Amino acid sequence: MDHGRDLNRWSRVCFGDGGALGELSLLMKKSQSTVILTGAGMSTESDIPDFRSKDGWWRNIDPTTVATVDALKENYSLFHEFYQMRIENLESRVPSGGHYILAKWEEQGLIDCVATQNVDGFHQAAGSKEVYELHGSIRTIRCHDCQSPASIDEFVAGDRCSQCGGKLRPNLVLFGELLPRDAWERALAAIRQADLVVVIGSSLQVSPVNTLPSLTSGKVAIINAEETEQDEMFDIVIHGKAGEVLPKLDEVLG
Ligand code: NAD
Ligand code: ZN
Repeated sequence: MDHGRDLNRWSRVCFGDGGALGELSLLMKKSQSTVILTGAGMSTESDIPDFRSKDGWWRNIDPTTVATVDALKENYSLFHEFYQMRIENLESRVPSGGHYILAKWEEQGLIDCVATQNVDGFHQAAGSKEVYELHGSIRTIRCHDCQSPASIDEFVAGDRCSQCGGKLRPNLVLFGELLPRDAWERALAAIRQADLVVVIGSSLQVSPVNTLPSLTSGKVAIINAEETEQDEMFDIVIHGKAGEVLPKLDEVLG
């Protein structure tokens, strides 16, 4: 870790140093409007693997090459196997402590909403009410061709659409697709007028969500296990696991 950068602008923390946590808690208390933006790192402590942490991904295949419209059209058996595995993996998983802390902060009026790139539904499962699912949800299924809804069981069984025979797919955003307009517009509006945006567990490599932190006129903070290419634009950078940093921050907030 490089400690030689300008610490006036940067408040980096190796976990255990209270400086950045104190600063972030003050910003949260002062802020009239705080938006949380989460990514796959928010759910790794629920045992849902993210896409870009290195450790041995599924069959050594880069998931970003399977979560695509091209894979759906041209390699449906691989596409189906990938999402079947992700859906079945989700069945035995539950939200993590960090998800519950965010729900509590919303209840306490400390944060306004959670905009998430995650498709696992854990924020809502933990009790968060105002959640914008920017990449949709893996918990519902539709036909890719005629958009008719179908059940998870039909998808897992490998059935085709009962209406048109088309390919079934989860209701999430594949690489190469547009984001759901309503979720995007709500998140954008909230972020534009926020006093504080806190990113948690995202490599900020996926467009257009990775542009959101730069669109606020408020302060920006990031809590992530490792450096991201965008760290320099943040007022506060905390390198640590959500499951460790959020309880500490909650403690500091009192
Ligand atoms: P990403 O995989 O690109 O990056 C995740 C980041 O989180 C990494 O920088 C990693 O260091 C960090 N991280 C991992 N564990 C962490 C922890 N415990 N605490 C804090 N940080 C941690 O994820 P992304 O930026 O969200 O982009 C991936 C895309 O894949 C998104 O579009 C998302 O929709 C999708 N995805 C979703 C899920 C899910 O719903 N749980 C899981 C995998 C991928
Ligand atoms: Zn159909």
